[in-house]
Amino acid sequence: MAEIIEKTRKTEAEQDASKFNFWADKQPCWEKCHCPELIKAECPATRYQFLACWEIEGTYCKLDDHGATGKDTSICEVCRVYKKFGNNEPIRLKLFGKGMDTELATLGKVAK
Ligand code: SF4
Repeated sequence: MAEIIEKTRKTEAEQDASKFNFWADKQPCWEKCHCPELIKAECPATRYQFLACWEIEGTYCKLDDHGATGKDTSICEVCRVYKKFGNNEPIRLKLFGKGMDTELATLGKVAK
């Protein structure tokens, strides 16, 4: 019974999180950076709008030419989106494993 209550609470908490939209009163990064439709469709920043883009692993701009997973947030530190909306708070990734799949990452999975 306690497990069911806990699961229900989790679901409610998840629903509350999904109702929150970090970008609600802000110009979202994909507009500020003029991301093309193809990128917008794939980037986790548009799919998980309850978080700021710099808190999400594997957003388009975090990926480099070498098929990185997108854990490196150093680009965010100098980004105008973070500078405008980040309130000088330290950057900490909060969402993992939802990042864009790069061609190299796909090849890596096949090779394993
Ligand atoms: S570089 Fe970082 S802060 Fe800037 S738009 Fe991309 S994820 Fe957001």
